[in-house]
Amino acid sequence: MEKSFRSEIELLRLGEGDVFHGEGILAITKALLQSGVAYVGGYQGAPVSHLIDVMVQAEDYLDQLGVHVEACSNEASAAAMLGASIHYPLRGAVTWKSIVGTNVAADALSNLSSPGVTGGALIIVGEDYGEGASVIQERTHAYALKSSMLLLDPRPELAHMVRMVEQGFRLSEASSMPALLELRIRACHVRGSFVCKDNVAPAVSTRHLMEEPAKFDYTKLAHPPVTFRHEKLKGELRIPAARRFIAEQALNEFLPGRHSEVGIIVQGGLYNALVRALQQFGLADAFGESAIPLYVLNVTYPLVPDELVKFCAGKRAVLVVEEGQPEYIEQEIHAILRRLDLQTPVHGKDMLAAAGEYTVELVASGIDKFVGKHLGEGVVAQGRQWLEGNARRRESVAKASGAPLPARPPQFCVGCPERPVFAALKLSQADVGATHIAADIGCHSFATFEPFSFGHSILGYGMSLASRAGVSPMMKRRVLSIMGDGGFWHNGLLTGVQSALFNGDDAVLLIFKNGYTSATGTQELISTPDEEVREAAHDKQQSLVHRNLTIEKTLSGLGVQWMRTVHTYHVDKMRRTLDEAFTTDFAGLKVIIAEGECQLERQRRIRPWIASLLKAGKRVVRVKYGVDDDVCTGDHACIRLSGCPTLTLKDNPDPLRVDPVATVIDGCVGCGLCGENAHAATLCPSFYRAEVIRNPRPHERVLDGLRARIVRWLQPA
Ligand code: SF4
Ligand code: SF4
Repeated sequence: MEKSFRSEIELLRLGEGDVFHGEGILAITKALLQSGVAYVGGYQGAPVSHLIDVMVQAEDYLDQLGVHVEACSNEASAAAMLGASIHYPLRGAVTWKSIVGTNVAADALSNLSSPGVTGGALIIVGEDYGEGASVIQERTHAYALKSSMLLLDPRPELAHMVRMVEQGFRLSEASSMPALLELRIRACHVRGSFVCKDNVAPAVSTRHLMEEPAKFDYTKLAHPPVTFRHEKLKGELRIPAARRFIAEQALNEFLPGRHSEVGIIVQGGLYNALVRALQQFGLADAFGESAIPLYVLNVTYPLVPDELVKFCAGKRAVLVVEEGQPEYIEQEIHAILRRLDLQTPVHGKDMLAAAGEYTVELVASGIDKFVGKHLGEGVVAQGRQWLEGNARRRESVAKASGAPLPARPPQFCVGCPERPVFAALKLSQADVGATHIAADIGCHSFATFEPFSFGHSILGYGMSLASRAGVSPMMKRRVLSIMGDGGFWHNGLLTGVQSALFNGDDAVLLIFKNGYTSATGTQELISTPDEEVREAAHDKQQSLVHRNLTIEKTLSGLGVQWMRTVHTYHVDKMRRTLDEAFTTDFAGLKVIIAEGECQLERQRRIRPWIASLLKAGKRVVRVKYGVDDDVCTGDHACIRLSGCPTLTLKDNPDPLRVDPVATVIDGCVGCGLCGENAHAATLCPSFYRAEVIRNPRPHERVLDGLRARIVRWLQPA
């Protein structure tokens, strides 16, 4: 019941001469098929989820082409899949979110890069870096350097990105190096068009099978002593071959400009931001023609010394626009030029911010310094005015609002099944005292924000239980680890559960069983209730996750002896279960499975069904919660315990009371948490549960009319 990508799949079918209109990440997906890719795998994550999501849903079409698609359990399994390209002339592509995904995949990537590849291997990484990122700020570049992998960073223009995918496979084959293709958030979502080619059915495929396995070849193993030879091959053969290919195929771009005495070297992915910044100075026109010569690095590793010399020789100075730290490219340019005794001054991080996303404004501030210094202050007047204008506007907004705008962190969806568990945890902590909480990656990490503020550390996806191993032996009270079902299957089962059981650890693990990897786009898991269950469900409104017991059976099989399953919306029961886990005499691993279907998925599942009922004129009941203004005491304990965005405040309608009262606005999905909290925490009795009936039965209409008349009689105007 994931989001449907039917229209996107149609775009994948476009043929020679057709024009593709759409987003960057989908253009890349189409380019894979045009390149004759034989197998595709990956683990979803921003900003590249679309690629694997669309591929998985396009399985029938890909089967016609003979392309295999694998939804991998984590990035390590995706990277290991590329092993198919070591011996065989198979082009393979995998995808994940970097830097975290590349960290998980690192072992397999090293062992792939050492023997090298025969078929082109492309790793499409979403460089989730900068303001909009959801992960730690590190660069994928480091992996390209340490493992000798190619690093492509295409200029974000669809036709160009498609060309770089096609050339990326060829470059990988020419050099035997796997290639990372780095896509920033903006490149993934940039819109545009390109003229398509036909998709290419791979010569060896699921429809044209290999007769025999490859002959045994020790040099294809990442195993000493042959790894010593691999290391020499990297420097002596592979990197020089890659450099030749990059130069011959003109993968990097030289764009001329009238101010030839200076130049800018830019990572391809930053080209659009750079040109927009130059436009503010009148140094680029509306079509992107730059007045300053640009050297656009669509391949940022390896650099090509001859090209660098050609660009830098005779210039007064060059500026390197390179996002993130450390400045690998700038340092390498310095080394290459100085080794060749070329003394052109190189600027970069001395004029641009060391870290963070290179927005247009930030790049413009670097251009201001570089151009001001080397072309004169007169050239920067227009751009400087623009920068100063922005600063003034910010100041005036801050002045007008009296204070900086409050931060608006992301939070749980309305009716999220995970919110009630944190309400229960608040109450439990009042019972047993504060506990150390090892948090994890997933929607549940929203509990690190107000009104919960739970979580002492986040060490990685599925790592919460492992991350408390050094804390719990030092702590009087038991430590709580929180993990989602996505994290459990990604990593937590082995790194956490297996290790805790093996060591006989006294630990409490809370697993959110919501049925999907919700935070990455509600992709399905091995523990997702299958389609048949959903179809056959008697009550479609009900959470269905209890119909799949794979997590429970796996834990039992491993030897977990203390396990409780609690529906997430049963706040009081969850509170008592947590209390028990923290205080029981049982000293081993205690697992609480918090069961409740992801509300986002549930709504996607039931909305079309409800619409069909309404269309057929059938009776539909929608539950809504509300607050009685007259009863609300105005202490807002309910809000502090819930945090639901539809439970909010409004002016007190009673002119004699000044405190605002709680109110439930229209988005309420009737999850029931308001009632549960009021009961579990003994709050004021101001909440009511209402049933909104559409297409009511005749007797319900009569009853409604009667009730309305009685209310009017009791409340005369
Ligand atoms: S996507 Fe699902 S699990 Fe995540 S916050 Fe929304 S309802 Fe909760
Ligand atoms: S019942 Fe309460 S917590 Fe649930 S959606 Fe409505 S307002 Fe939000």
